[in-house]
Amino acid sequence: MSRIVVLIGAPGAGKGTQARLLQSRLGIPQISTGDMFREMKTAATPLAKEVQRIMDAGELVSDEITFEMVKDRTSREDCRATYVLDGFPRTPVQAEMLESLAKDQGKEISAVLIDVPFEQLEQRLTGRRNCPVCGEIYNIYSKAPKVEGFCDLHPEEKLVHRSDDTTEMVKERLETYQVNTQPLLDYYEKSERLLKIDAGGTPEEIYSALEKALAANNAIA
Ligand code: AMP
Repeated sequence: MSRIVVLIGAPGAGKGTQARLLQSRLGIPQISTGDMFREMKTAATPLAKEVQRIMDAGELVSDEITFEMVKDRTSREDCRATYVLDGFPRTPVQAEMLESLAKDQGKEISAVLIDVPFEQLEQRLTGRRNCPVCGEIYNIYSKAPKVEGFCDLHPEEKLVHRSDDTTEMVKERLETYQVNTQPLLDYYEKSERLLKIDAGGTPEEIYSALEKALAANNAIA
């Protein structure tokens, strides 16, 4: 049976990096609600303005809006088999919504905790830079681009520092994670669908542990 692989981890744990690796190496589509909201917030609509305000405050967009977006995106052809959710669900209500979606889509859920000590998260977040063209994720402390400030693959493009990756915003986002998202770990653990990956190592080491855990769980072939 095909799966919905849910990556859970604090902001900065490396969910995006791992989801992108699953996509490029195994062809499993990566659905990132954060990326979708970042695209949405540049539009000139009242909803886009509201999304921008919420993101800039380190808060969460409403469960209903988020779920509609996920439902719509995952109804596309590329999500007919297994897909990865990066950043959804993020609240117990969203987890319930995902249960019914999984049922409708005839899929099983496997949740993976990408577990990083809280002390490491701040540096991972404030050092993070993204390519605006391909989305490649760098870190000025641990994965610097070849030329400072520019993407290795798109050398003409200046890397972007997300507006919510500043020291002040990081505190808000980590608090939001602890209050809203951590309860999901219990939820998936109790139903025996939680895999845990130690994410203290390099992205390659984490990826190798992730792939092994998913394969052992028959979540990937
Ligand atoms: P991320 O890139 O996953 O850190 O998400 C960036 C921001 O998008 C979050 O701080 C939220 O404001 C919003 N967001 C992303 N995913 C969700 C979600 N599942 N529920 C509500 N808001 C979300």
